[in-house]
Amino acid sequence: MVRETGYYDLLGVGSKASADEIKKAYRKLALKYHPDKNPNEGEKFKLISQAYDVLSDPKKRDLYDQGGEQAIKEGGMGGGSSPMDIFNMFFGGGGRMQRERRGKNIVHQLSVTLEDMYNGSTRKLALQKNVICEKCEGYGGKKGALEKCSSCKGRGVQIKVQQIGPGMIQQIQSMCGDCHGQGESFSSKDRCKNCSGHKVERKKKILEVHIDKGMRDGQKITFHGEGDQEPDLEPGDVIIVLDQKEHSLFKRSDDNLTMTMSIKLVEALCGFKKAISTLDDRTLLISSQPGEVIKNNDTKVIQNEGMPVYRSPYEKGQLFIQFQVEFPEKHWLPEHLMFQLERLLPPREDVLIADDTEEVELCEVDERSQQRNYGGEAYDEDEEGPRGGVQCQTQ
Ligand SMILES: [Zn+2]
Ligand SMILES: [Zn+2]
Repeated sequence: MVRETGYYDLLGVGSKASADEIKKAYRKLALKYHPDKNPNEGEKFKLISQAYDVLSDPKKRDLYDQGGEQAIKEGGMGGGSSPMDIFNMFFGGGGRMQRERRGKNIVHQLSVTLEDMYNGSTRKLALQKNVICEKCEGYGGKKGALEKCSSCKGRGVQIKVQQIGPGMIQQIQSMCGDCHGQGESFSSKDRCKNCSGHKVERKKKILEVHIDKGMRDGQKITFHGEGDQEPDLEPGDVIIVLDQKEHSLFKRSDDNLTMTMSIKLVEALCGFKKAISTLDDRTLLISSQPGEVIKNNDTKVIQNEGMPVYRSPYEKGQLFIQFQVEFPEKHWLPEHLMFQLERLLPPREDVLIADDTEEVELCEVDERSQQRNYGGEAYDEDEEGPRGGVQCQTQ
């Protein structure tokens, strides 16, 4: 029994979510609330990261499920890695050593359809990035005109002295705002007009993203060195993360597809022919022979009509079809014809009725009262309503 659901709520998943569901939820939220995209949501980003850090580790998750956040803190398992570390680990941002000499990676989510992943597709993605200023070649101004910053006397930091109590002073050291901690700056006449001395300028760049057949939800496509440029730093990567939209008919798992198909009772018993439109717009005809009998929830499979296998697209997975048998509505057959139907159906079993058998009423079930009995997932909003949802008029 799960005691606390705070971390699950943060990720928007249920407490029984699979590792994959947790990963997917984190992926979406982390990209949405990353400080690069949403600078005002730093706190939210931190909370999501914390939640993922715990729920993605089976040991920590277990501990959390048993004792909540308190147990994580007491077990010394909280606050291991920073939100950025968690993010970079997840999106493959390279190790710490690498990051010091390289610029930041930029992670983008790209929404794609299942059709895109089935057929392959090319998408153009426009992004804004920092590139070394063309005019000053990343120098920031006229060559040789760099002067010692007068505000900080070249130290790059400013020291403020503050009185915090009688006879007590505190020194606060902060980065010099005038030279951005560089200790040197250009006078306004020597500063590069193109980049205002920032050494880089924002430019629009179009990336062509090739979605190969068989790629998967969450798959990363990396453009090496296409991240923000900065003088003296190797640029980071642009990482595109595919985000597959739900499909109205097919559900994917690995290379297999699953669909549900409704058939009428007559089709279930007497056979049918049905058409299926594939993701590449072909039409498949399937049939069931009379007398084959398809039961409700029966699953059949079509070989080689699943998703193409990534990097080996002539191979395909399987297509599973789950059948839902539609029964006729109440009283569809006039009562006087019922016996004819019964004659055709497999015979029923006789029931032995003893003298002390109690005859009771069979009632319709009220769905809301039913849900209340499902324990953990109970719906509470209806507490005020009348109790005992079973509606039954006896006598
Ligand atoms: Zn410039
Ligand atoms: Zn300065």
